[in-house]
Amino acid sequence: MAPTPVPFLDLGATHADLLPEFNVVWKDVVADSAFIGGEYAARFEDAWSTYCGAAHAVGVGNGTDSIELILRALDIGPGDEVIIPANTFIATAEAVVACGAMPVYADVDAATLLVTAADIEPLITPRTAAIIAVHLYGQPCRMDEINALADRHRLAVVEDAAQAHGATWQGRPAGSLGTAASFSFYPGKNLGAFGDAGAVVTDDAALAARVRSLSNHGRADGEHVIHDLMGRNSRLDGLQAGVLSTKLPQLDRWNDARRRARDHFVERLTGSAAIPVAEHPDARSVWHLNVVQVPQRDEVIELMRAAGIDVRIHYPQPCHRHPSVATPPTLPVVDGSTDRLLSLPIFPTITGDQIEVVCSTLLSVLDELEVDGHR
Ligand SMILES: *Cc1c(COP(=O)(O)O)cnc(C)c1O
Repeated sequence: MAPTPVPFLDLGATHADLLPEFNVVWKDVVADSAFIGGEYAARFEDAWSTYCGAAHAVGVGNGTDSIELILRALDIGPGDEVIIPANTFIATAEAVVACGAMPVYADVDAATLLVTAADIEPLITPRTAAIIAVHLYGQPCRMDEINALADRHRLAVVEDAAQAHGATWQGRPAGSLGTAASFSFYPGKNLGAFGDAGAVVTDDAALAARVRSLSNHGRADGEHVIHDLMGRNSRLDGLQAGVLSTKLPQLDRWNDARRRARDHFVERLTGSAAIPVAEHPDARSVWHLNVVQVPQRDEVIELMRAAGIDVRIHYPQPCHRHPSVATPPTLPVVDGSTDRLLSLPIFPTITGDQIEVVCSTLLSVLDELEVDGHR
């Protein structure tokens, strides 16, 4: 009996209830011709900085640019090193390289797969300028320890919060936990636009102003044709901002649904060969991704896909194994977990039945592989 197919992500179901509101946004933005920046962008920036518990938010074109713009605004460039975890989406490394600095790859904690102060400390050199703490899979890093280490060495701490909208560390939201934070609103993220969008969040007014200028052709504040800095074009547009403002009031509800779904997965998989990524007791993850570690991962994927369950890998190639890295460092946890990572479906509207189908398929696939003596 073939089980019902389960998609990896169902954006249509998430958006269904909001269609009438999206139609209003579209008409309003067109009526006001507020296409780039303008009141819709400003309104979302205010709502987003408030949500993150930070003083400023600057809407930008996407999450990769938001990391790069933070680094540029901090004057990080050629000759500087930026420490980042090796198991992150390639964008974290790209942003460092794009500003001319050198990414230095850190290993991660085995239980949470997040970078810690202990992983970072041995990599600090006189050239280190910043640390990027990636709140991978939706779970914030142990930011009190990372900030204390950064303070001792006078380093900036950038949160890559592209997967962690609404997550908290010791009760404080992602976005308020470092020097500045980067968010992506790529459609599949926990808060996603209808195209590319991103934001920089910070308490530092001067840093926010510099990011805004750099993202808008280096324009001087309030000026149109006076350019103080050599900048670029990476702005939030009115339609995306309107969509994001419409979705933001639902974010906590959606994140709660993800947490309930994740609890259900963990309950069903406990005691099996599938080991879920652990949640630190001080963290409240928003489970952007539902990652477990399994033996014989590639065979598991093949069998699960054959059964109609859409599963993925985040990420099949850690950044330090990218072809551009001449001498990859040996990172035991990242290297040892890469071939075991399996991302199971998770999204706010996933049903208990869908979770049961995914888990029973995974458990029987693991059984089957064991029975076949492949272990
Ligand atoms: C999605 C993502 C980014 C990049 O965001 P884009 O909006 O796609 O440019 C950066 N870092 C991480 C960890 C991400 O998941």
